[in-house]
Parts: sequence; structure tokens; C-alpha cells
Amino acid sequence: MSKPQAPNEPNLQASSMDSDSNVPSHLFRQAVEQAALAISITDARANILYANAAFQRITGYGQDEIVGHNESILSYRVTPKLVYETLWAQIQRQRPWNGLLVNKRKDGNRYLADVTITPVVGEAGLTTHYLGMHRDVTEVHRLERQVQNQKTLIESVVDAAQVAIVLLDENEHVLLDNQEYKKLIGDLGKEPAVRLLEALRLQMGDAYTKAYEKHRNIAAREVCIESPKRPTRWFSCAISWFEEHDVGADAFYEPLRRHYLLLTIQDISEIKRQQEALRINSLRALLAEQERIQGLRETLAGAVYQLEGPLNMLSAAANMMERRREAGADLPAASALEEAMQKSREVLETLRGCIPEQGNEALQPVNLNEVLADVLKLTTASLLGAGIVVEWSPSNEPPVVSGHPGQLTNLFKQLISNAVEAVNERRGGQRELRIACTSRGDHLEVFVEDSGPGIADDLRYKVFQPFFTTKGAARQHLGLGLAMAQEVVIRHGGTIDIDPGYHAGCRVRVQLPLLTGANHG
Ligand code: FAD
Repeated sequence: MSKPQAPNEPNLQASSMDSDSNVPSHLFRQAVEQAALAISITDARANILYANAAFQRITGYGQDEIVGHNESILSYRVTPKLVYETLWAQIQRQRPWNGLLVNKRKDGNRYLADVTITPVVGEAGLTTHYLGMHRDVTEVHRLERQVQNQKTLIESVVDAAQVAIVLLDENEHVLLDNQEYKKLIGDLGKEPAVRLLEALRLQMGDAYTKAYEKHRNIAAREVCIESPKRPTRWFSCAISWFEEHDVGADAFYEPLRRHYLLLTIQDISEIKRQQEALRINSLRALLAEQERIQGLRETLAGAVYQLEGPLNMLSAAANMMERRREAGADLPAASALEEAMQKSREVLETLRGCIPEQGNEALQPVNLNEVLADVLKLTTASLLGAGIVVEWSPSNEPPVVSGHPGQLTNLFKQLISNAVEAVNERRGGQRELRIACTSRGDHLEVFVEDSGPGIADDLRYKVFQPFFTTKGAARQHLGLGLAMAQEVVIRHGGTIDIDPGYHAGCRVRVQLPLLTGANHG
């Protein structure tokens, strides 16, 4: 070093070997001088005796401008007084201090200094000097703050979102959530995300496992969560994956990736309820139309049936007259009778032609649990009005048949309406309706049991005959309900009968062939 030595500068230029090592003393000076860190040596009152090149570069002060001044020359005066008091308390106890100070360069610009001060203790055990080391961490601080600000911003946006958002690690531990998600915890209990992911897993099966393993996103899917004593809730759930580089030291040269699962959850229960109400209303309208057509069919078929009797009698009389005419009798009324009969046949044919066709619904897989649940929803008002207690036992396995959904709905609606009427006929006693659907090997059995007066043994088969009724015309019964029900069951390859062994009311049994798994679709 050829620079002139400042008056207070310690003599660090000794060229002798350091007593404890074989490193020459001048090497220490060179090392300090050339260090990238700003290094200063002060006396015990923080007056600067020495400052290295990095110190001069960072602060903007030359060696001559800084030596002899107190370190406080760097203070920007926004650092709280308490920080300096702590600093001094620490170093006066001969302990090193490290902290952040706001410093001011010679040109007035400020920078954030990460400062470490180490007391230098002399042989007498007293602090003779201080070693100060600092680096400009303004940029690091700026980046840290930026990250922090972004994090705060993201958290605020996530928190304000109207959908529930939750971030999970690969072990499905919650790392971040928002206010909407917290509300779900109140509603669904801990941990809603785990319950919803499980519901998704059950719904999607292998597709979910594959997507999960390969960290593929899953577009919004509807899942339902059933809780005892609470209405069923519906959620639209979407999964997005993203990866982050591990920030640990181990992963500095060999990057490790961590995967995170972002689950967004939208409560669609209200929309679902509205959709369901709409569906039931349109089903009600459809069934009302089918009933209207059925009523028309029944009326016209009844009229045709009623007219066929007298016409048959007229036909017999005409045959008799014809035979007598062939035998030579003069019967002028015979041709008039023949003409009347001809006209009557034409009218009958016209009436037959007016009988509307049954709607030609496509054959499709139909889940009888759903059909029966729908029928119960449709008849809720009449069941409640009649004060009937309903016991509904759906099949555990999906009871799928190949059928016409509208006709099957009408079939069970007919059986349930019959049951409600039967219960209403009985004064006093139990008012019960039990519906059960059970899989029995290759077919399904549906029981509709009521606690009404029941059907006498001798009428068990007759009740399925068209126009047979136990109720009389005054009650607007044509006696076609069970005949229609039987027609629908037969069209579906099944059977319908009345259990003779059931005496607590009436038990109607419907058996329908089960659609096997391969045929679903
Ligand atoms: P000051 O009046 O200097 O001090 C404020 C408070 O500090 C006082 O109330 C007192 O509690 C305590 N204090 C100050 N001097 C002493 C002392 N000699 N003995 C006991 N307590 C004391 N400050 C910076 O702002 N930036 C730096 O980069 C920086 N580097 C330093 C490096 C070294 C090696 C040392 C020893 C000190 C350094 N300081 C630095 C601290 C500096 O000396 C001042 O204490 C500080 O800047 C506050 O200055 P001030 O004029 O506002 O208040």
C-alpha cells in the first residue's frame, strides 16, 4: 500500500508474520482492503480510524473524507433511536451486534445497510476498537418487499373471491384458504377439501387417480355432499396444479419440485335446487299430458266397449232376420236394420280411430330408484294432505331397467295414487305407505304396500281387467288404472300381482328384468 497513512489509522502495514499462524500480517491488511464487504475500524466511541475500498465505494466517501468522523455520519435519522440503543447496549457488553440501519451516502442517497459490529477486546479485557462490516441490501429488501406485497395482494384477492379457494400440499394438508372456504368449514366440518376430493375420487374413479398422479388439472365437476340431518349440498369443484422450486439449501444446485393443488369450490346447491324444481315441474306437466291422453284413451275405449254390447245384440237380431228372409219371410225392416248397423260400425270405427296412441318414448336405461323418488316428490302434496306416513327403501345397487321413463313413472304414480285412495277409504288405524325397491338376481322387485282395506282374494286377478272397478262410476273410476299398469309392466317384460299373503292392507308387487352392466349406456 503506497497511500499516506491517516493520523488515527492503526498501523496495519506490519510485514512481520502473524504470531499464531504462518500468514504474513500484510496479507490480513490486503484481504481486508480488497474484501467485497464494507469494513471499518473505529475507536471505542465509533470514530472511524480505517475504512476499506468497498466502504468507500458504498458510502461515496473517500478515505480522507471519512477517517476521523463518527460512524453516525452515515445515519439517516429514520432508524429508531431504540435500534441504536440496543446496538450500543449489545456491543458494550462485548457482544457482536447485527441489524439493519438506514444509511445515507455522501450524495444524500439512502440505502439499507445490513450491519455487523464486533467489539475488539484488548489484552486488558477492555474494548479498544470496533470492527464494522456492512453491505448494501437495498435491492434484496426491495425484492423481499415486492414478494411480500404480491403475497398480500394475492391473499387479499383470494380472500375476497366469491368462491371457496384452498391450497393443499401433496399430502392434502391445507396451506392457504380464504373466507369462503372458512365458511364451508362451519357448514361441512373439518376438512371440507378432503371430503370434496374424496367425493371427486369416488365419482371419477380411475380418471381421478390418473389426473392426480400426473398432476393434471380437472375442469369444474359437480359433486354432492350428503350429511345426515342437513339438506344435500352441491358443489362445482375444479383442480389446478402448480409446481414450485424448493427453496431449501439442498435444492440450490439440484432443484427439487414441490406440487401444490389448488381447489376452487363453488356452492351450487341453490342452482341445483332450482334445476330440480324445474325438472319436477316439467315432469309433472309431462305426466299431466300423459294422464290427459290416458283419460281420453280410457273414455273412448269405454265408449267403444259400451257400444259394442248393443251392437252385438243388433248384429244377432239382423242375422236372425236374414235367415228368416232367406226362408221367404217378407221383412222390410231388415234392410233398414242392416243400414243402421252399417252406420253404427262406421261410428265405432271412427271412435276407435280417435283413440290417441300412447306416446312413443325411446327405450333407455332407467334407474327405478330415481323414478320412485320422483314419483314420491310428485305426490308429496297428496301424501301430506292425507297424513300418510311414507317409508321408502331404495335399492342399494343401482336398479336399472331398460324402459320408457314416462310410462314407468306413470305406472308407479298410478300404484301410489291407488294406495293413497285406499288409505283414505279406511277410517282410523295406521295411515302408512311403504315402497321398497330390491335387486333379486336378474330382476328387480318393487313393492307398494298400503294400510288400506286391501283387495279380496277373489278380486286379485279381476282388478287388472279393463273396466273392472270396485268403486263405481259415481267416483269417476273407469277401472282402467291397474289394466294400464299391467299393460306397461308387460311391455317392459315384467309381471305385476297382488300379494295374497298380505293382510294388513294391499301389497302390489312389480317385477322387472334388470339391465345388466354391459347393457348400460
Ligand atoms: P448518537 O447520539 O450517536 O447515538 C444515539 C444513541 O446511541 C444514544 O442515545 C446512545 O444510547 C447510543 N450511543 C451512541 N454512541 C454511544 C457511545 N459511544 N457509547 C454508548 N452509547 C452510545 N450508525 C449508522 O447509522 N450507520 C452505520 O453504518 C453505523 N455503523 C457503525 C459501525 C461501528 C463500528 C460502530 C461502533 C457504530 C456504528 N453506527 C452506525 C452507530 C453510530 O455510531 C451512531 O451511534 C448512530 O449512527 C446514531 O447516531 P446519532 O448521531 O443519531 O446518535
